[in-house]
Amino acid sequence: MAAGEFEIIERYFTRRGASREDVIAGVGDDGALIAAPPGGALVLAVDTIVEGAHFPAGFDARFVGHRALAVNLSDLAAMGAEPAWALLALTLPAVDEHWLSGFAAGLDTLARRHGVALVGGDTTRGPLTVSLTLAGTVPDGQAIRRSGARAGDDLWISGTPGDAAAGLAILQDRLAAQGRAREALLARFQLPQARVALGIALRGIASACIDVSDGLAGDAAKLCAASKVGADIDSRELPLSAGLCSVASREARLAFALGGGDDYELLFTADPAHRAQLAALDAGVVLKRIGAIVEADGVRVDGAPPGRDAGHGFDHFTAGPPPPR
Ligand code: ADP
Ligand code: MG
Repeated sequence: MAAGEFEIIERYFTRRGASREDVIAGVGDDGALIAAPPGGALVLAVDTIVEGAHFPAGFDARFVGHRALAVNLSDLAAMGAEPAWALLALTLPAVDEHWLSGFAAGLDTLARRHGVALVGGDTTRGPLTVSLTLAGTVPDGQAIRRSGARAGDDLWISGTPGDAAAGLAILQDRLAAQGRAREALLARFQLPQARVALGIALRGIASACIDVSDGLAGDAAKLCAASKVGADIDSRELPLSAGLCSVASREARLAFALGGGDDYELLFTADPAHRAQLAALDAGVVLKRIGAIVEADGVRVDGAPPGRDAGHGFDHFTAGPPPPR
């Protein structure tokens, strides 16, 4: 007989992630009991990923477990927070133990790497959907908001945007790639790396920050709207990976980098006085200055509003029928 809800929780979701001293009671009671951290604020984020919308049907279960946490780690990173506790609401069409063990392993590995304890959740039946709530901490007054950018600030991006979108296009046979470039781009979609150490390092340096989940240009527009400023991006300064450059034309590369989603890089602003400090910062990822914050509204790339491919970011409700992921 297939395992029931209780067995699934016991087998796959008990004692997962890091073990933390501030967890008084985790999985097994009616609620998770956490010792409140002294002298700081809590940062909470929830993200839901749905099969067919956020990851392709048949996507390796390890990648699904990794992604469910990575997307939330990225949100906390953008706030400058240190992640700590996670709640997992899992909706499954059926009990598939092979899938569950892969999923739990993907989640567990990433959670341990970031000191996150899985402290509770909910398990239900329905179309495959993973909703993860992540909580973390930031010292009082040090959280980084979207709203702090000022005209004259530099605009920076971490990593190499566009790779993950190209990886998805390869997975869906919309883009041809071979060898090392193919492997590298696929990995960037399959195992996104949230920039947690960078977010923490940017406390006191970045004036505003957002994580790039829906496309650089669209997320830049969100940061600008929150800060009531505009941004000028210089496309020649975009840090494109060798892999992306080897498989896509210049036009296609820019569309991936500006309009593709799933990068989970940090897009942030900082006063030019911080340039040397940022150039020397070692937070596990390369940083690149790609433009400047200006007084005028909106985002411009090379002086013009970004093209239709790049401009708006992904929107589940205006995008028409779900993309064939
Ligand atoms: P209740 O009915 O009180 O909500 P449940 O029987 O749903 O409790 O869950 C029992 C325990 O298992 C709770 O501590 C809950 O947080 C935890 N739990 C349930 N599903 C998951 C899951 N997918 N991941 C982690 N913990 C879970
Ligand atoms: Mg329940």
